[in-house]
Amino acid sequence: MKQSFLFTKTLKSIAAEEKSINAQLLIKGGYTDKLMAGVYTLLPLGLRVINKIEQIIREEINAIGGQEIVMPSLQPKENWEKTGRWSGMDDLYKVTDSGSHEFALGPTHEEVVVPLLKKFINSYKDLPVYIYQFQNKFRMELRSKSGILRGREFLMKDLYSFHLDEKDLDEYYEQAKQAYFNIFKRCGIGQETYLTFALGGTFSKYSHEFQTITQAGEDIIYICPKCKIAYNKEVIDEITKCQSCNLSLKDFKEAKAIEVGNIFKLKTRYSAPFELKYKDQEGQDREVIMGCYGIGLSRLMGTIVEVHHDDKGIIWPLAVAPFQIHLISLKAEKELAKKAEELYNGLITAGFEVLYDDRDESAGLKLNDSDLLGLPIRLVLSPKTLEQDSIEVKLRNSDKVELVKFDQLEKHINKIIKI
Ligand code: ATP
Ligand code: MG
Repeated sequence: MKQSFLFTKTLKSIAAEEKSINAQLLIKGGYTDKLMAGVYTLLPLGLRVINKIEQIIREEINAIGGQEIVMPSLQPKENWEKTGRWSGMDDLYKVTDSGSHEFALGPTHEEVVVPLLKKFINSYKDLPVYIYQFQNKFRMELRSKSGILRGREFLMKDLYSFHLDEKDLDEYYEQAKQAYFNIFKRCGIGQETYLTFALGGTFSKYSHEFQTITQAGEDIIYICPKCKIAYNKEVIDEITKCQSCNLSLKDFKEAKAIEVGNIFKLKTRYSAPFELKYKDQEGQDREVIMGCYGIGLSRLMGTIVEVHHDDKGIIWPLAVAPFQIHLISLKAEKELAKKAEELYNGLITAGFEVLYDDRDESAGLKLNDSDLLGLPIRLVLSPKTLEQDSIEVKLRNSDKVELVKFDQLEKHINKIIKI
């Protein structure tokens, strides 16, 4: 992509009300635009990041048998009354049409997925089933102050699993846990993300959250330094030692963190109100056992920015960067532009993702923009490097600058990407 064609531009300044780092950097960089508190447009660069995150999640969830669907956002009131959440869920958006019919705007999809499954599940032979989607959720969040970390409309991956019995759920739950670890590692926040015991299990004592350590976090967690499991402050009263290694609570480390995902054993909480049952081998009716597993993709994008940035801008991990390479021609003069264009076409043909800054702007502005956008590999072509048949290579997460010969460039980049 040529930067002169890119729909968005970097902004010099943004509204003073934007206090969070993710909002400041993503808006300034032209990744997102704020429509109102908690509601954002994804601009071309931001959508590319979300698509990368989405694909990582899709691969990992498909690997544990997930089948992707898309369910509606507009949902009938009756289903929400059946589960008691029409009046029981504070952050539910309700809409009324001109015929006085009421609907919910989906904040989560148990009220749609369970009636859906009821149409397809009859016998024990029909289970297990794992269904997921990527979809915008709506929640009446009253504290939408943390940029895309807490949206009123936000993108979530929600997976629902349906089982014959609790043993099967328990086994799948462990697989989902592992898939979540893989996802957060691939997204570049594996080091900072902890499996965390939390209250809120519907029928089990605890649920599990995946909490990423960041100053922007709204939760406090206590981390066991020995086995790297954490406990949400909300549960801590009930716990005196690590559930896994018995280390005493007083040796735990306290940290601020944001919940990027969670997994729940729902058991029969939603299958019961909709009478989602199957016939077992003896022909007896049994309730289907459920689990659900969420990840907020937009929150994940914001969290990655909170974890990976410096005072100049974002530092994208390679796997989620909108482009791998930022190619910059420092001057717009003819000979230089011709070489830059040739390199750009060569890199694209070789299969790399390149943003090429072909704009007629000052070197300082281009380099500042490049730091703000935060693409992992920066290539700078100047009259000085051209003289030596070379280009400057610098990684966004390092200060080291290398001069690489044109004929060695692809090999050099391949080496970086494989690290
Ligand atoms: P929180 O405690 O932060 O409000 P939650 O417990 O309401 O989260 P879930 O209902 O389990 O979260 O949603 C699944 C995932 O969706 C969360 O782990 C989080 O990553 C994301 N998420 C939840 N609420 C929001 C929001 N308002 N904006 C962006 N992402 C969200
Ligand atoms: Mg919530």
